[in-house]
Amino acid sequence: MTGPRRPVPGQPGATAPQRPVLTVRGLRVEFDVPAGRLPAVAGVDLDLHRGEILALVGESGSGKSALAMSLVGLNRGPGTHISGEVDFNGQNLVTASESQLRRVRGRHVAAVFQDALAALNPLHRAGAQVAEMIRTHQQVPRARAWQRAEDLLADVGIANPARNARAYPHQLSGGMRQRVMIAIGLANDPTVLIADEPTTALDVTIQAQVLATLKRLQAEHGTSIVLITHDLGVVAEVADRVAVMYGGRIVEQGTREQVLYAPQHPYTMGLLGSVPRVDGPVADRLPAIPGSPLTGVARPSGCGFAPRCGYAHDACATAPPALTRRHGGPGQHDACLLDAPARAAARAPARTAGGRP
Ligand code: SF4
Repeated sequence: MTGPRRPVPGQPGATAPQRPVLTVRGLRVEFDVPAGRLPAVAGVDLDLHRGEILALVGESGSGKSALAMSLVGLNRGPGTHISGEVDFNGQNLVTASESQLRRVRGRHVAAVFQDALAALNPLHRAGAQVAEMIRTHQQVPRARAWQRAEDLLADVGIANPARNARAYPHQLSGGMRQRVMIAIGLANDPTVLIADEPTTALDVTIQAQVLATLKRLQAEHGTSIVLITHDLGVVAEVADRVAVMYGGRIVEQGTREQVLYAPQHPYTMGLLGSVPRVDGPVADRLPAIPGSPLTGVARPSGCGFAPRCGYAHDACATAPPALTRRHGGPGQHDACLLDAPARAAARAPARTAGGRP
């Protein structure tokens, strides 16, 4: 693998708490649609720390992909309105020019998306695409870039990298193509890797291999990873921290253990309740959160989850609750106005729809 090794928190060589590598403040992303402006991301604050895997979870339409794309300035087209701050190394990527973004993107902040077949150029060999990414950002002779491409392919777990580097995308399996995408993302040893549903299209065995690859790269290189997923099994396997999104906002965040085993927000409880458990009773049907996610232009004046929440009360309708520490553990924040006894009651039937009593 290329580039210097960075210390990882909790590992030898690591130093005590550092500034986040990426800081998001008040991020809003709105899309023009026939009915008006769709608030895909409605004011998000987020910190990404060095060497951590932060999972962004939520249903389709929760805003997690729109948020991820704005972290690398990839959704700036016409009809898109972005405001707020994404601070990387003192530079606000929201207001950065395209040429400034090009210097950051792929070099310091890289992205891997779900559909590797669409993202890879079918006319170029896998190794050439990795080598090209290296040469876009570094002055490296062609032969050396190719050798580094082969090293990267080996690093992401591709067997016989010399042979497979010469393969075209259609000659590789889905899992191998996804790993080529990860190798391209890591080509310049980025500080931050954004991985949007990187394993969704893969079968379970390959998914496990790709997740292990991400985890190993995080541990060995100190790469900070934002992992966007709707799969709580993936979260349980690799995430250090979790941010749960609903209706364009983060409604809960904390460590993996806090969010998965002591959730505070009824939406998180509902999500967890809809996941099959090997240690739970066998159910004919898994409970689903009642109602539909917020996908339209109009949003409730108060808590966005209120129309689906069995615990909604008058105060929930006044304004969107702030994301702050209430009754969870250290560093666990939620955006719910329930008091402590009501939370305990909500958690008890957490395996029913939306925590509905
Ligand atoms: Fe939102 Fe109120 Fe339900 Fe909490 S109790 S999730 S604030 S509607």
